[in-house]
Amino acid sequence: MACELALLGGKPVLPKGRRLETYSSLGPEETKAVVDVMNSGVLSRFLGAWSTDFYGGPEVVAAEAEFAAHFESKYAVSFNSWTSGLTAALGAMHIEPGDEVIVSPWTMSASATAILEWNAIPVFADIDPSTFNLDPRAVERLIGPRTRAIVAPDIFGHPADIHGLRAIAEPHGIQLLSDTAQSPGALDHGQYAGTVADIGGFSLNYHKHVHCGEGGVAVTNSSDLAERMRMIRNHAEAVILERPGFPRENMIGKNYRLSEIHAAIARQQLRKLSFQVAGRQEVARTLTAALQGLSGLTLPVVRSGYSHAYYVYGMVLDSKELGIPRRRIVEALKAEGLDLVFEGYQALHRLPIFRERLAYGSGGYPWSGAPEPIRLEPPSCPVAESMHDEAFLGISMCKYELGSDDLAIVISAFHKVWEHLDALA
Ligand SMILES: *Cc1c(COP(=O)(O)O)cnc(C)c1O
Repeated sequence: MACELALLGGKPVLPKGRRLETYSSLGPEETKAVVDVMNSGVLSRFLGAWSTDFYGGPEVVAAEAEFAAHFESKYAVSFNSWTSGLTAALGAMHIEPGDEVIVSPWTMSASATAILEWNAIPVFADIDPSTFNLDPRAVERLIGPRTRAIVAPDIFGHPADIHGLRAIAEPHGIQLLSDTAQSPGALDHGQYAGTVADIGGFSLNYHKHVHCGEGGVAVTNSSDLAERMRMIRNHAEAVILERPGFPRENMIGKNYRLSEIHAAIARQQLRKLSFQVAGRQEVARTLTAALQGLSGLTLPVVRSGYSHAYYVYGMVLDSKELGIPRRRIVEALKAEGLDLVFEGYQALHRLPIFRERLAYGSGGYPWSGAPEPIRLEPPSCPVAESMHDEAFLGISMCKYELGSDDLAIVISAFHKVWEHLDALA
């Protein structure tokens, strides 16, 4: 007879006092790169004036060339975060105050707040329940005369349906911004995720596949979009007079510059990316083979033509079929030692900033300043809401090593909890 659930006083699968091993992508290569930059004496070479240094120092320039080459994109533009990158991307796309930008509610907040940066209006469209990405049919219903762009996150690492979105967007001249923060290295019909949209881009923060402290990199095949992003990144307004004829809309100079130290680390991290993604894919294959057949549990899908970068291994729980609330199952898994399991993810449209329209000041701006009537009713995204509140169950893949021993523990804990579901009911 299997031992009893740890939640009910039994012995946990992961012995007490032991933790699942955490993962670090940092090694001596990064340390050496940092020391080399320190010894060069140049920690950032950006100059907010029209000169060669306007585009940054040697590490920044080299990092951008390497990211562009790696992702087979014509241009890569670095930033001090991907939040900055998203903001610069929308500015480069000429998003105007009062424009509407359609975005997923099932994403990190910056996908939507970047829209507010330009006084534009985020319009939330519901997600597909199997990939958790924007559902093109839900997007189509929300397209109006002021829709200018779509922000499509590749959530958890599965590329969004950019082709489906493009078919809807193109007839209206709507631009596509791919938020590929969680899917670096995932493929969409042989092309890297992020390079299929007008602009895509990656985050280099601590939680992502590869990291450099803080940072972000946009990729695009448009020289215009790339140059406008570079201008916004580095005090555009200070150099615009020296560039007569350069489009001046949204050239409100920011400082979104990446330092030489961060760029040097990012270059080393990029070399490790493919290996890491392959490792996560292997872990996911093992999980899927082992968890297949657990009742009421739907495992991640990978649509034909795509590969998945597995930032998160995302599952859907049918609590009704099981007759047990998700909270109880998660508690049982955690009690067995699985810190890496989490429930729910995000329902951005319900955050007070969007629901109560309290962003700039207290007067409801930019919603109240939108030049013509827009959809002001509270947005509703029933799929995202039920996933967040009841059904979604995730395994964090980036923070953990998940070598064969730990993976065996994760798998045994799931099986043990499922064998004792009666005791949880
Ligand atoms: C991490 C993340 C961001 C923000 O990236 P930062 O570099 O932390 O600013 C944006 N979108 C998604 C989907 C993310 O996961």
